[in-house]
Amino acid sequence: MKNIAIAIDGPAASGKSRVARRVAEDLGYVFVNSGAMYRAFAWQAVQAGIDVTDESQVLTLLADTKFECGECEGVGTVLVNGVDPGEALTEDAVNSTVSAIATYPEVRERLVAAQRAYLDHCNVVMEGRDIGTVVFADTPYKFYIDASPEVRAQRRKAQGIVDSIADRDRQDSTRKASPLVAAEGAEVVDSSELDLEQVVSRVLGKLREQGLVSE
Ligand code: C5P
Repeated sequence: MKNIAIAIDGPAASGKSRVARRVAEDLGYVFVNSGAMYRAFAWQAVQAGIDVTDESQVLTLLADTKFECGECEGVGTVLVNGVDPGEALTEDAVNSTVSAIATYPEVRERLVAAQRAYLDHCNVVMEGRDIGTVVFADTPYKFYIDASPEVRAQRRKAQGIVDSIADRDRQDSTRKASPLVAAEGAEVVDSSELDLEQVVSRVLGKLREQGLVSE
């Protein structure tokens, strides 16, 4: 039987990661944060000291970079040239370069292939920006988690993370390759006034309606 993909997209700090992780735990699926793959490559670019706005430098680095995507205890993992960047994935330098690096179609192609490969081995709940529109465009299980810009900025502040989410959202929504947009048929959930449990229960409720989850 074919493995199942649940796609969860949305802007920065919409809460989609925590929701995707919980839904994956509930269903016994693997949780994959596709943003971590773009972040891992952005981290590599920061280490290499390249100019991420210069496409030729980015593509040269891409050709020299090996991604190994796996899974540990139900959670997706990523190594770049054998290294796990760990906590460094959320450092300021990565936050401020990742959306530029994610605009290049060649970068996206490599990472989309790695994302799709998960389905050869397991059922996944994958979150990102283009999971329902591109990566698993065929899945009937699509969600778009949103929240107002004010609520999202507040969430980042509360996490003590310096993150120019307005800049990232602008770049992610306006880029040519796979821009952030709710997939056709996606269940849109505005999490501004909802807590984690409420969003998770909306998602599971929809999956129940669709017959994926039993009562
Ligand atoms: O999800 P997260 O905020 O960690 O993603 C970091 C960045 O990676 C996004 O702002 C976006 O530029 C890029 N990304 C993407 N496509 C995805 C996941 C993330 O372009 N599927």
